[in-house]
Amino acid sequence: MHISAAFDSGNIEVVDATRPSDVHLRIRPDAGKDHMQWFHFRVVGARDTPLHLRIVNARACSYPQAWEGYQAVASYDREEWFRIPTTYEQGELQIHHTPQSNAVWYAYFAPYSHDRHLDLLAAAQSEPGVALEVLGQTVDGRDLDLLVTGTGERVIWIIARQHPGESMAEWWMEGFLERLLDEDDALANKLKAEATFYVVPSMNPDGAVRGHLRNNAAGANLNREWHAPTRERSPEVLAVRDRMDATGVDLFLDVHGDEELPYNFISGAEGIPGWTERLAELTAAFEAALVAANPDFQTAHGYPQDAPGQANMSMATTQLAQRFGCLAMTLEQPFKDTADTPEPEHGWSPARARALGASILHPIAAVLPRLR
Ligand code: ZN
Repeated sequence: MHISAAFDSGNIEVVDATRPSDVHLRIRPDAGKDHMQWFHFRVVGARDTPLHLRIVNARACSYPQAWEGYQAVASYDREEWFRIPTTYEQGELQIHHTPQSNAVWYAYFAPYSHDRHLDLLAAAQSEPGVALEVLGQTVDGRDLDLLVTGTGERVIWIIARQHPGESMAEWWMEGFLERLLDEDDALANKLKAEATFYVVPSMNPDGAVRGHLRNNAAGANLNREWHAPTRERSPEVLAVRDRMDATGVDLFLDVHGDEELPYNFISGAEGIPGWTERLAELTAAFEAALVAANPDFQTAHGYPQDAPGQANMSMATTQLAQRFGCLAMTLEQPFKDTADTPEPEHGWSPARARALGASILHPIAAVLPRLR
């Protein structure tokens, strides 16, 4: 039996793999050492062998309580990722699976590869009226890419994957872009006539390739850098924020995944100093329209709202809501499944994330006339 994670977005360290019935593994921390939770590895040579995989440092991960009720994903073809029996016991994540194939991949969530990211950019920029713009370089020297489309006056910015282990954010982006760029979609055409869309499909390609949960290659959690990004530590945020300062922002959406909550939900900018009744109404209208468009989204469960004036201004949503006086929101998707609309075989999945991305055109349309 051979276990490896030396590939795009791989993350695992083998402690002891001499016995398939008692394999000891460790998740490797992100650069910066303050986060870890993402795992992704391949097992070869265990067809029809009952595997007991023990991630022995699960308790030391960023969100140990999130392992409760979580099921890992597996794949034989790296296309379909299905859920497998997983428990959290004695501080270890314990995965039980008997592979039906010689090679099997295991991961925290269906991975979104750098190649697929490049394919997404290539497909998008091939569509009429779409410009691909390089905003700058990441710490590891990759391009930080922006897609621009639409001719309207309103300015809409949508970014994803500040936290690279939240791969569902880029699956969401794929569904969103496919619909937005569909010339046969009347709603997409209407929105592109009334607004210009600035879209960053992946804010943190370095962290994604490195198999990180949250940080970039310099060890920075990008969603704690928006108040004071630097060229050395957070060039990805600096490049995007500078471009936003040039365009202005009327609507901002930041797409994430949440380790613990089995729900799709939105977190707003309630605690910023510049919070207004207008922003509260716009946030509520956006959420209501998304509930109507896609029942996988809900508003009953989510993060507690910040008290007035108590927002953490280093985050994208709060910083940009304050900076531009605009509607700004963080969209969270589950790593687990949706409790209200479960799909046990796959849980929350690439297909469902894509569908939620396509649904976002409806709430944008609902608030667009009132964004200024
Ligand atoms: Zn996140």
